[in-house]
Amino acid sequence: MTDDRTFVVIGGGLAGAKTVEALRERGFEGRLVLFAAEAHLPYERPPLSKDYLKTGEKLEDVFVHDQDWYAAHDVEVRTGTSVAAIDRDAKQVLTDSGERTAYDRLVLATGSSPRRLGIPGADLEGVFSLRTIEDSQAIRAVLVPGGRVVFVGGGWIGLEVASAAREAGAEVTVLESLELPLVRVLGPQVAQVFADLHRDHGVDLRTGVTVDALEGDTSVTGVRLGDGSVVPADAVVVGIGAAPNVELAKEAGLDVDNGITADAVGRTSDPDVFAVGDVANVEHPFLGQRIRVEHWANALNQPQLVAAAMLDQEGPEPELPYFFTDQYDLGMEYHGLGNPDDEVVVRGDLAAREFVAFWLRDGRVTAGMNVNVWDVGDAIKALIRSSSAVDTGTLGDPGVPLETLT
Ligand code: NAP
Repeated sequence: MTDDRTFVVIGGGLAGAKTVEALRERGFEGRLVLFAAEAHLPYERPPLSKDYLKTGEKLEDVFVHDQDWYAAHDVEVRTGTSVAAIDRDAKQVLTDSGERTAYDRLVLATGSSPRRLGIPGADLEGVFSLRTIEDSQAIRAVLVPGGRVVFVGGGWIGLEVASAAREAGAEVTVLESLELPLVRVLGPQVAQVFADLHRDHGVDLRTGVTVDALEGDTSVTGVRLGDGSVVPADAVVVGIGAAPNVELAKEAGLDVDNGITADAVGRTSDPDVFAVGDVANVEHPFLGQRIRVEHWANALNQPQLVAAAMLDQEGPEPELPYFFTDQYDLGMEYHGLGNPDDEVVVRGDLAAREFVAFWLRDGRVTAGMNVNVWDVGDAIKALIRSSSAVDTGTLGDPGVPLETLT
């Protein structure tokens, strides 16, 4: 080895795996150690609420790389090993078992964890959250014909798993605290599409409800709402958001504010420590604000910037936020960062669930979402990046090619 430095990555999710991959691709020849708390090699999470949840098949496809890849790229993957502390003065990480590993540069890719329901009964058997392969397997086992599955939270997890549950023949109730699911992200007009989608597929979607308790002796039997009524349940899936795993960073004295604060290339308040993925609250030069993105594409792409910066190389421009969902026969992609109260322009047919929706602020496109319409991602990104005012009439006219609007 020509490089005697050691780079350490804490976190065995997609962001951690892509960081070690990018470091090797960019020519890092030093020692590379990846600590993964889970027993598995790093894997991707989207299938856990989509295909893998539904079928239980092709588990091998969820892994970012197989064991041979890590060996071939001389990456020491320490699965089942939690890092307990970072000693920034000594530039060492300390594992649960007391082992110390010295680093020259360190990456925190510690991800996020499901928020817990802080109400009575939240720990009963039959109450699930979804983050890991094991969670997905456990939830699949309760998605059975006639089984009564109640979802607390109508976010991405709630809605994707609810669609899998309906497809499996379960009786599904979704409880959402706001007036519409996803309304905080999509605003009322487009959020209504998802509410209709689920009701059309037989989901009992209840909005504006509060959940007071989960009932049952050892296993959950029902969900008690704020009005005193009880929704019977054989299983409850809680999807009420996630919280960034910042404890290590906090204890190490790094700046933390809604995640680990970092510059556009992931450099934290310590120049030798970087943050990436769900846990990183980074500056985004194009958007002109800090953002922390808890979506797959961020964990996929951001490591390129971070790895480049760790090697003092020029990296790519940060991508615009991107996420996708599949629910029943609806496929959707979203680019950009809209506000739910932005003006919305729709090109296509909301009721038929075949459209592109745009969010606009001061006449400029901030985000675009294609639903059952494909191959428009590049045009949507170009519209957002152009930052120029667009004519809403032509934007909403499917007869005018999107490419001609930039
Ligand atoms: P989420 O998408 O943030 O949605 C959580 C929803 O639950 C919100 O609508 C939230 O409303 C609601 N909620 C919060 N507390 C509640 C309560 N006590 N009772 C009822 N509803 C409540 O989070 P998630 O679905 O749990 O997903 C976790 C993370 O995984 C998120 O970061 C998500 O983006 C990510 N994920 C992404 C995808 C994808 O990109 N397709 C798929 C799965 C998961 P408030 O807004 O009022 O809090």
